[in-house]
Amino acid sequence: MTELKLAEYIWLDGAKPTRGLRSKAKVLSLPTTSAVTIDHFPEWSFDGSSTAQSDGSNSDLFLKPVNFVKDPLRGEGNYLVMCEVLNDDGTPHESNSRASLRKVLDNGGIEKEAWVGFEQEYTLFKDTRPLGWPSVGFPGPQGPYYCGVGPEAVAGRNLVEAHTKACIDAGIAIYGINAEVMPAQWEFQIGYRGIAGEDAGLLNMSDHLWFARWLLYRIGEDFGYQPSFDVKPVAGDWNGAGCHTNFSTKDMRAAGGIDAIQDAITRMSKKHSDHIAVYGHGLERRLTGLHETCSISEFRSGKSDRGASIRVPLQVATNGCGYFEDRRPGANCDPYLVAARILSTVIGYDDVDFSGYTEEAALAASH
Ligand code: MG
Repeated sequence: MTELKLAEYIWLDGAKPTRGLRSKAKVLSLPTTSAVTIDHFPEWSFDGSSTAQSDGSNSDLFLKPVNFVKDPLRGEGNYLVMCEVLNDDGTPHESNSRASLRKVLDNGGIEKEAWVGFEQEYTLFKDTRPLGWPSVGFPGPQGPYYCGVGPEAVAGRNLVEAHTKACIDAGIAIYGINAEVMPAQWEFQIGYRGIAGEDAGLLNMSDHLWFARWLLYRIGEDFGYQPSFDVKPVAGDWNGAGCHTNFSTKDMRAAGGIDAIQDAITRMSKKHSDHIAVYGHGLERRLTGLHETCSISEFRSGKSDRGASIRVPLQVATNGCGYFEDRRPGANCDPYLVAARILSTVIGYDDVDFSGYTEEAALAASH
């Protein structure tokens, strides 16, 4: 049995310095009585000259489906499909950062059985102001808002609840939400949640973060709220927005894994500016050394230290194994690049060219 259903093909565009999400839907005849697999979604094409991915003369690019989840908005039998962008000869397009992550995995990365999780912060805007902020002036200073409750503490919970339910219904590995330090700022987390059979690997979790971001924008349309992933949406004494990244390899998770964690941190300390370069646009505005960050020009690691670049959670230090938290990535980072950069440093594989992605951030890190 088959039925006509919709598949929303999602891909990353070529916008700089921060990539945008694009999507379009295809009507497909999909099976209703047997499992749908990635092979049920055919390749498709789009006009790359309208997405900053090609010039007008030869503008057709290809969408290759690589992962999918249920479409929680259109309902049963419909899907959201993550795609890589390919050139007409089948090679990865220069904007295809997922291919960079695959390259690291294919060159020694897979054996590490790495897992990644992301703590995605974002800010809701209504018109040009953060949601719930007075039209003139500012809300009261930070303090009561983090994990707050009540109309004076938080704004936008209706959207947050709808988004969280949508992620769960889609099968996205969301594992928590909270109101953040700045009013109108929120966080959701994607990653390992202790459920048997779930794939916490780098490709799948990075795909899931992009699906979750797409759903946030899409549901934002219904509420009239615009999500912002700017790393410092309001200048001054207001917290920025990050995407703390939790990372582990099989060795780190095993008994005595603290040695592998320390080794990784030592390797990362020598590549600080290379990491900053692909951790998001405008990081110099967020990594100031204030507001629970470490300065962009400094690398520091520490146990349970929220002012560190990399934090080893207290429980991990106590247990002697687990994971580390890289606190540097900004809310607007590309998770494919963050995961690729960490894994390549951890395994000492340096044959991926990251230079095309975020030269401005690299510049900021070098002074
Ligand atoms: Mg947070």
